[in-house]
Order: sequence, then structure tokens, then C-alpha cells
Amino acid sequence: MPEVPPPAGRSGRPDATGQGLMDQFGRVATDMRLSLTDKCNLRCTYCMPEDGLDWLKKDKVLTAPEIVRLVGLGVDRLGVRELRLTGGEPLVRADLVQIIAALRRNHPALPISLTTNGVGLAKKAQALADAGLTRLNVSMDTLNHDAFLQLTRRPFLDQVLAGIEAAAAAGLRPIKVNAVLLRGVNDGHGAELLAWCLERGYELRFIEQMPLDADHGWTREGMITAAQIRELLSDAFVLTPDPRSRDGAPAERFEVRRHGSPDLLGTVGIIASVTEPFCADCRRTRITAEGKVMSCLFSRTEVDLLPLLRAGSAQSDDDAVAARWQDAMWAKPKAHGMGHPGLGDVDFVQPDRSMSAIGG
Ligand code: SAM
Ligand code: SF4
Repeated sequence: MPEVPPPAGRSGRPDATGQGLMDQFGRVATDMRLSLTDKCNLRCTYCMPEDGLDWLKKDKVLTAPEIVRLVGLGVDRLGVRELRLTGGEPLVRADLVQIIAALRRNHPALPISLTTNGVGLAKKAQALADAGLTRLNVSMDTLNHDAFLQLTRRPFLDQVLAGIEAAAAAGLRPIKVNAVLLRGVNDGHGAELLAWCLERGYELRFIEQMPLDADHGWTREGMITAAQIRELLSDAFVLTPDPRSRDGAPAERFEVRRHGSPDLLGTVGIIASVTEPFCADCRRTRITAEGKVMSCLFSRTEVDLLPLLRAGSAQSDDDAVAARWQDAMWAKPKAHGMGHPGLGDVDFVQPDRSMSAIGG
């Protein structure tokens, strides 16, 4: 007998609870990205304006108990299998260590990772590891002090370097380093950064610059593409595709060797969200610091969970929050509209939010 689909709710989503965070194209989100704050202590030109943004009022930001509840709903009911805490800059949240400890108590086996700019990490790395953080990504686009200042508008490179060292000493492994290359600023620094990471056993991932800057300064002509990144690295290194399966990961991994040497030095990842989008394999569900579900980084629609979260704490409310989250994910667009082969950016409209306000 053919299966009879369950009745559809108002969103058109079949009214069944067993499907987790599935969208209408059959993708199931198991990777939760949760922003802990919209605030940040850097002003990266590809993300934030020089003067910062209008920060959310404190009472609009998810509290620690709300975060713990949302992650619990995601993991216990909706099939979330891994969690990444991000921002803004998550380290500026004073209760970060307590949040991680509470999440770890409730979910002993959940991989919990953190994306941070590394400022202030030196002081907190051991506490984060002790609280149960699984691993972390530190964003560092260059080893050059002048270029770092130009990119982030803050003179904090030494703090970031000390933070990475402290994270390694605290046993947080693997350490991944995220880098965005900007033309004329740090596009010549990629090979040096890769050599530095390989020597220390860190995994470097280059991220194509996306049109998510608050200044709306991104241009397709100005961005450094994944193909150009590979080219830029090729003077110093030979990159060959990593034979291991990509398994839905956003980064395409390459094995790295020196010219003329068979010795494998490590791997490098390249995240080509613009020129080689991986929307068909996307497993991400994002929640902003104020509790809005964004089914995609480039979503122009958001679904607010905060009113439901604050309406009470009974079982029935959990049902309502879970259903609204599922509805939001059901409506996830098929693709973000950039980089269609031969067509370019056909449907793409830059979202109002910057990367820092979404939670990258
Ligand atoms: N503040 C933390 C950090 O910088 O790691 C966490 C939040 S930040 C929004 C997360 C990641 O997004 C960083 O690795 C950053 O480099 C990246 N990012 C920000 N704006 C971007 C853009 N326009 N294109 C590509 N990556 C971007
Ligand atoms: Fe802050 Fe991260 Fe955005 Fe840089 S990329 S401004 S560190 S949120």
C-alpha cells in the first residue's frame, strides 16, 4: 500500500513529529548553529561596520536557561546531532562557561564546538575545556599585524595568537583556523598562514567572502574565489583532493605537500559558499541570539521562537516551540540564489542582517 502522507499543517509541513528538522526538499538539519550574542570586540570589514551595530537590548537576548532549553529540544526531539556556538563574539558572553557546562551535563555525548575570534581566549581556554567544550575554530585571517589591524580595525593579533596557543595547551583538538582573504589586503598571506598552521597541527580553512557585510561592500569581482585561493597556494604547495568523504561538510579538503616531496604535511579546507555552493547537502539550522530561526545564512525570512519560549515552561509549550522550529525549517529555500552555473546570481538578494547578527 502506498504510504498516506500525514495531514499538512498551516506551513504545508506534514503534521508528523518524527521527521525532525526536515525541509520540503528532503534535507534534514542535524547541525545546529546557535548565536550567543550579536556583540563583538572586533570590526572585521567583511562583517561589521566601523561603528558597530545597534546591539540587541539585554532582555531581547536568549538567556542561559532558554539556550539550554532550546538545545534540549533540538537534541532530544528534533534530531540535532552537533552544536556550534557562535555570534557575534561568543567569548564576550560572561556566562559562556556556565552555558557550556550545563549543555554538557544534559548531553554528555553531544559534540559542542565554538567559533571565536580568539580575543580573550587565552584566559578562558582551560575553563572552556573543563566545562566540556569539544573543539573550537579560531578566526584569524593573517599573521601580519598591519593587515590584521586593517581587516579587524583592532590591534589584537597577539591576543589571538596567545588564545590559540592556550587552546592547544588545554587539549582542545582539533583546532581549526578560519581565514577570509580580501583582495589587496591579505590575499598574499594565505601560504604563510597555511605553513604556520601545518607546523603546529592546526587545520586551516579558507572561507570565500560572502555578501554578508553590514556595509554592503561585497562585489563578485572583488572577492577571492576558491579557484583563486587554490592558485594562490600553488606556488608554495601542491594540493590534491582529500580522498576521505566530504560527508556534507562545507569545506572541500585538500592534502598538502611541498613541491617535489611525497611527504603529507596535513590538509587544508576551502569553503566555496559563493562559487561552488553546497546547498543540496546543507544540514544546518541556525538560531540567532534573539531566538529567531534562520533556515539559511542568506534567509530573508526569520521565525521568532522567543515569544513561545517566554510564554511558559510547560510541556505543551515545548510542543509549540518545536513545531514552530520545524515549520521554519520546512520552508528552507532550495538554494541561496548565488553561483548558478552559467547564470550567476540570479535570485540573490543580500539579507538585511550581517554575518555577526546571524551567527556564522
Ligand atoms: N566572532 C566569531 C569569529 O569571528 O570567529 C564568530 C562569529 S563570525 C560571524 C563566524 C565566522 O564567519 C568567522 O570565521 C568569520 O571570518 C566568518 N565571516 C564573517 N563575515 C563573513 C563574510 N562576509 N564572508 C565569509 N565569512 C565571514
Ligand atoms: Fe566579530 Fe567575528 Fe564579525 Fe569579525 S567576523 S566582526 S570577529 S563577529
